[in-house]
Amino acid sequence: MRVVLLGPPGAGKGTQATLLCQRFGLAHISTGEILRSAIKEGSPLGKEVAPILAAGSLVPDALVIELIRERLMKDDCLKGFVLDGFPRTVEQAKALALLLSEIEKPITNVVEVRVDDAVLIDRIVKRGQEGSGRSDDTHEVVARRLEVYRAQTAPVTAYYESVSEVQVVDGLGEVAEIHRRICDLVEPELAD
Ligand code: AMP
Repeated sequence: MRVVLLGPPGAGKGTQATLLCQRFGLAHISTGEILRSAIKEGSPLGKEVAPILAAGSLVPDALVIELIRERLMKDDCLKGFVLDGFPRTVEQAKALALLLSEIEKPITNVVEVRVDDAVLIDRIVKRGQEGSGRSDDTHEVVARRLEVYRAQTAPVTAYYESVSEVQVVDGLGEVAEIHRRICDLVEPELAD
């Protein structure tokens, strides 16, 4: 199973990706996590992207596409993976399709987690107050992240709708319940 999890910041993609990976033994690939660990390490990449993350903007496509290309070559991806936070632009989605077609391992499921804006802002700000340690979990930056999502990432859903199917899941409710909803959607495809 090779899953793309779509949805705005705060939709619960990270939590749901973790559960899905545990359940099906998949690799969890979060570009946000990769970038945050580069920042923590203080690597040249980290230094380059830190101000971009703090501002709630997107890092350049070429940079994240290269990170994903390297990540997808690791052995743990052979059993399948969940992409969380990538692709975030149509350019990234097209690059991903190309990368995966080269290894003949196309995406099997595109799942969109839907949540109202008001809930998102609340969730993210709370996450920041409860010590997520993320420089972008603040009121000011959340507004910018949602704006970036609408302008640059929402078209990714339209892109996938035009080339395949997008499975929509209601992201409101208990974590376990949302996990069950996602499993109900993706499990029929397990034979792949
Ligand atoms: P996330 O953890 O997915 O919310 O990502 C946190 C931040 O990392 C985003 O606000 C962006 O600054 C950056 N980022 C993560 N993934 C991508 C991506 N696919 N393209 C561009 N920027 C990204």
